[in-house]
Amino acid sequence: MTKEEEIPDWVGAKEFYDKYEPKEILGRGVSSVVRRCINKRTSQEYAVKIIDITPSDKMTPEEIEEIRDATEKEIDILKKVCGQENIIQLKDCYESKAFFFLVFDLMKKGELFDYLTEKVTLSEKETRNIMRALLDVVQFLHAQNIIHRDLKPENILLDDDMNIKLTDFGFAVQIHPGQTLKEVFGTPGYLAPEIIECSMDAGHPGYGTAVDIWSSGVIMYTLLAGSPPFWHRKQMLMLRMILAGKYDFSSPEWEDRSDTVKDLISRMLVVDPKQRFTAMDALNHPFFSQYVVNEVRQFSPYRRFKVICMTVLATMRIYCNYRRAKPVTKEVIKSDPYAVKPIRKLIDACAFKIYGHWVKKGQTQNRAALFENSPKAILLSIAAEADEQGQHSW
Ligand code: ADP
Ligand code: MG
Repeated sequence: MTKEEEIPDWVGAKEFYDKYEPKEILGRGVSSVVRRCINKRTSQEYAVKIIDITPSDKMTPEEIEEIRDATEKEIDILKKVCGQENIIQLKDCYESKAFFFLVFDLMKKGELFDYLTEKVTLSEKETRNIMRALLDVVQFLHAQNIIHRDLKPENILLDDDMNIKLTDFGFAVQIHPGQTLKEVFGTPGYLAPEIIECSMDAGHPGYGTAVDIWSSGVIMYTLLAGSPPFWHRKQMLMLRMILAGKYDFSSPEWEDRSDTVKDLISRMLVVDPKQRFTAMDALNHPFFSQYVVNEVRQFSPYRRFKVICMTVLATMRIYCNYRRAKPVTKEVIKSDPYAVKPIRKLIDACAFKIYGHWVKKGQTQNRAALFENSPKAILLSIAAEADEQGQHSW
C-alpha cells in the first residue's frame, strides 16, 4: 500500500471524528451499525450509519467490494431523493478505505415497527396518515424510476411530530424506463410474488416498481391487523402463500374495519403486477379522499361497550359545562328563577295546574313574563294558592 493511498483513508475517518462524537447504538444491520452522534460545535444530535468494510476473515475481498459498491449507490440515491419531506435527509457523508460514515437527522421516536409493537394495532385514521405519506414517497420515487425494494416498518422512522421518514436505501435502485430486474432483494415477508418467481424461473421477464406497492400493501395490512398477511413458521410455506396471494381478513381485528380499507389493501396485494394498483391509483382510492361516518359497519361487543362509555362521558361533560356556564346562586334564583331548569319545571308544573286555563292560551305567550316584576312575590303567591288547593307536592 503506497503512502498516497493511505492518506484518503485516514482523512475521511478523521474528518468525521473531528466534527462528531459518536454515542450509543440505535440499530444494527448486516454490515452497518447506526449510532447517535453529536456535532461537537453545535451540540446538535444526529444519527450516523457506520458501514464497516475493514478487510477481515469474515468477508472475502469480493464481498467487501460489493458492500462498497452498494454503499456508493445508496449515497447516490440518497442525494437524488434529498428534499422530499418524508424521506430521511443525508446531512453529511465521509468515506475512508475501511469505513463509510453517513450522517442523518436523528429520529428520536425510532421505527414504525416499535411504535406498532407498542400499540398492537393502529386505527384507520392513523393508518391513513401513515399510508398517505408512504405512498406519496413511493410515487415520488417511482416517478424517477427508483425502486426502494425494502419497504417495511423497520425502515420507516418517526420524527418528533410522528411524521414518517423513509430510510435504508441500501437495496434501492434506479432503472431505465421499461427496464426490469431479476435479482432477489428484500425481506421475506414483504417480497412481491414476482421477485420470488424470478428466483425460481430463469426465463422470468423480471420485476419493476410494482414490488414496492406489494410491500406497501403488506405494511398497511400489518398496521391494521397487528400481524402480517403472509406468515408461516416454515419460510417455504410462507413464500408459497405469497405466490398464491393467499391471505384473508378473518382475524377479529378486521371485524370493525371498513370495507373501503379492505378494498384498498386487496387492490395492492394483487399477484399480477400489471393488475396491481400503482401509487397514484392507491392515493386516488376513496380511503384517502373521504372519511365517511358509516365507515364502521359492524359493531363488535367491545366496540359497542366503548361507544356507550364514550356517550355517557360526553353527556356528563356537556352537563358539567352547562352547570359551569350557569352557576345556580341565590342571586340567580332571586332575580331570574325561571332561568334555572329545576325551578322552571317546578313553576311550570304548578302554574299549569293553577293557571292552566289561561297560561297556555297562546303560542306567543312567554311564561317567564310571569316573574318579571317581583319573582319572589309571585312564587310565594303560587305557593300559597297551591297550598290552598291542597297542592303540597313541591
Ligand atoms: P440497515 O441497512 O443496516 O438495515 P438502516 O439504515 O435500516 O440500516 O438502519 C438500521 C436501524 O438503525 C434502523 O432500523 C433504525 O432502528 C436505526 N436508525 C437508522 N437511521 C436512524 C435515524 N436517522 N434516527 C434514528 N434511528 C435510526
Ligand atoms: Mg434497515
